[in-house]
Amino acid sequence: MNSPLPAFAAVVVAAGSGTRAGGAKQWRLLGGKPVVRWSVEALLKAGAQDVVVVVSAGSEAEAAEALHGLTGWRAVTGGAARTDSVKAGLTALGGPDDRPVLVHDAARPFLSAAVIARCIAALDQADGALPALPVADSLRRASPDGIVSGAVEREALWRAQTPQAFSLKTLTDAFAAWPADETATDEATMVERAGGRVKIVEGDARLMKLTYPEDFAMAEALIPRTVRIGQGYDVHRWGPGQWVWLCGLEIPHDQTLIGHSDADAGLHALTDAILGAIGEGDIGDHFPPTDDKWKGAPSDLFLKHAAGLVTARGGRISNVDVTLICERPKVKPHRQAMRERLAEILDIPLDAVSVKATTSEGLGFTGRGEGLAAQAVATVELPSR
Ligand code: MG
Repeated sequence: MNSPLPAFAAVVVAAGSGTRAGGAKQWRLLGGKPVVRWSVEALLKAGAQDVVVVVSAGSEAEAAEALHGLTGWRAVTGGAARTDSVKAGLTALGGPDDRPVLVHDAARPFLSAAVIARCIAALDQADGALPALPVADSLRRASPDGIVSGAVEREALWRAQTPQAFSLKTLTDAFAAWPADETATDEATMVERAGGRVKIVEGDARLMKLTYPEDFAMAEALIPRTVRIGQGYDVHRWGPGQWVWLCGLEIPHDQTLIGHSDADAGLHALTDAILGAIGEGDIGDHFPPTDDKWKGAPSDLFLKHAAGLVTARGGRISNVDVTLICERPKVKPHRQAMRERLAEILDIPLDAVSVKATTSEGLGFTGRGEGLAAQAVATVELPSR
């Protein structure tokens, strides 16, 4: 990995309908990022000079959205079978005969630079390269009713992954020679049939193929995450009124808090804590008090917006802790309902939500009953970038 890779191109197959995974899995979000984007980013980062993403007819807009902001890729419409799709990708690619081409399955998102480098390096010694893993489990043959009928020698067996690497000419020749009425498992099979030597290189257990719906949960768990902490603070002044909004609840009181919105200092402090954890500025940046649109606005809207920004990044809120500082009203009778309301707004478990209250012993502006202050802390887990 010390010397730069030779110029290479890639065909990413994203044309599957993914019926086994319950819908087209290549567009689904994984760690806040469409599945196809993980490997296209990895290929571009490794220096791929031309990445052709093969999509099914009608999915061009989905590809454009999934890969928005990346340069160095283009979409090509594929065919009914994988062979047709890869062929369409190769035709679009073109280039010199000796151009290394990686053919990759979009359903394998965790493509590392090391695997890419090993595949390309192996082309010095063989006509093709195939990342693969040895079979660790013992293998058994069984009858259709599940009765074991013998063992299978696993010593010479490998679990094939992608990307598979070949020179452009090796691959196009193998496609030209392949019988039209046969389907091929992968490109290595085709090159091998055409007389080429395909070498196995070390694969990667994380390069798993997302096949079944439960694979997504396992893949999510594999994404390294960083814990972020944010804090927020807010104050509103007391004024005449019959009720006050606190932590998303309307509480009868002989005063109200004055503000541009509903003046819910608890929700404002918490919104700032979440924005702080993800480096997204403060509540005023997102909802300017100069904007009449937010006059009298319910503050759960601000909190939902902040939580949505966390979700959009593939993150999750781990816990929140709010402290209200006032002499009156008494918070304790409302604490449980406040926790429930916050858990509902944020869509997190109740035990991840804390609401506390304190007085300031009659000292300062809160002690004199001039205003109410709120503090909040939020922890957020974000996918490490
Ligand atoms: Mg405020």
